[in-house]
Amino acid sequence: MEAVPMPQLRLRISATAETILRSGHPWLFADSIREENRAGRLGELAVIFDRNDRFLAIGLFDPESPIRVRVLHAGKPSTIGTAWWQERLQQTLARREGLFDAQTNGYRCINGESDGWPGLVLDRYDQTFVLKLYAAAWLPRLAEVVGCLRASLHPQRLVLRLSRNIQSLAREEWRREDGQLLLGEEPDGPVTFLESGLRFEADVLHGQKTGFFLDQRENRRLVESLARGRDVLNAFSFSGGFSLYAARGGAGSVTDLDISEHALAGARRNFALNQAAPGVAACRHDCVRANALEWLAAKPMRKFDLIVLDPPSLAKREAERTRAIGAYQRLNADGLRWLAPGGVLVAASCSAHVSAEEFFGAVRQAARETARPFTEWQTTGHAPDHPATFPEAQYLKAIYLRSAC
Ligand code: SAH
Repeated sequence: MEAVPMPQLRLRISATAETILRSGHPWLFADSIREENRAGRLGELAVIFDRNDRFLAIGLFDPESPIRVRVLHAGKPSTIGTAWWQERLQQTLARREGLFDAQTNGYRCINGESDGWPGLVLDRYDQTFVLKLYAAAWLPRLAEVVGCLRASLHPQRLVLRLSRNIQSLAREEWRREDGQLLLGEEPDGPVTFLESGLRFEADVLHGQKTGFFLDQRENRRLVESLARGRDVLNAFSFSGGFSLYAARGGAGSVTDLDISEHALAGARRNFALNQAAPGVAACRHDCVRANALEWLAAKPMRKFDLIVLDPPSLAKREAERTRAIGAYQRLNADGLRWLAPGGVLVAASCSAHVSAEEFFGAVRQAARETARPFTEWQTTGHAPDHPATFPEAQYLKAIYLRSAC
């Protein structure tokens, strides 16, 4: 029997959703769909039409997700095929041109929606690339995506990582596993890469995100510029990213504080990897394994001249937003008690549900309550290889406060 080709999947949506998509927002929610000409399948292209039957947008369909369509393109009608994907990749890579020299071969190449690849991230760690999928709609298209990446980037090794919510579907329906090799061989040890001339390990097969927090690079660079002669506390240190920069920048000592022994072991190895840098070799490195929220709430045993507080997201859901703002204020108030006169606090948040202004407000309030004068040195947002083009994508922010002497 000859297979009857299915008609193109066509959607009509609410007036509000039309306005939202027209403004460039990349998500169409299921409850905004008014008409669907047939049931759509995972990962197929859905064409969205406006009230006057004109093309509005095209995107990836997911019949199970509340985000029913992730928009690939809005505006003029467009045919999406191999050439289109190649063109999109070239545009994405062009956005990174000139950002990094040979001293940095670990950075984000594709940042999801904000680069036009909704729910897909590609990070580079030297010759190893890590493709992380946050949306199931990419699973049926994986071979196509790998072909596209291969043609332009020629990766020596490509690792697949899957967000937790799509792992069982990937395994059962698509025989894809988190940590699976898509190209090249499994690494025989940790993958290492360069960031600003410092060497770091990335646990590309099992680590959080894609193995390293590449998003904090610009804040790490700022911390290096502030570190000379200072005793530094790096709370929620993970593998010591901020600490290595502080050490190279001339810190007298750095203390990594993390709840995970695995993270602290990574920090020790990263220090060992960078002993050729005189600042790192000269810097005293201590590790404390503790719950930082409790540790910082205790009576300060000593003072630090530079404190970095970069906790994991304190609001994983919208419902946790108000409580999280309070938690940020408390954490930073506790942290400030450990800060020496003339010291600098670097407070970061990676909660998308807490806005930059809400977070900065919480930290400023914590500073006011110390009754010590502080000056605000600066606030920062997303790094250029981590663009964030719509509110839900804007998760990272940091504020730098300097205490009076
Ligand atoms: N600043 C890091 C990234 C931090 S990720 C960097 O630049 O690479 C968050 C870290 O907080 C993780 O390493 C996690 O183990 C740690 N963590 C989570 N909850 C914690 C807690 N209650 N106390 C201390 N560390 C915690």
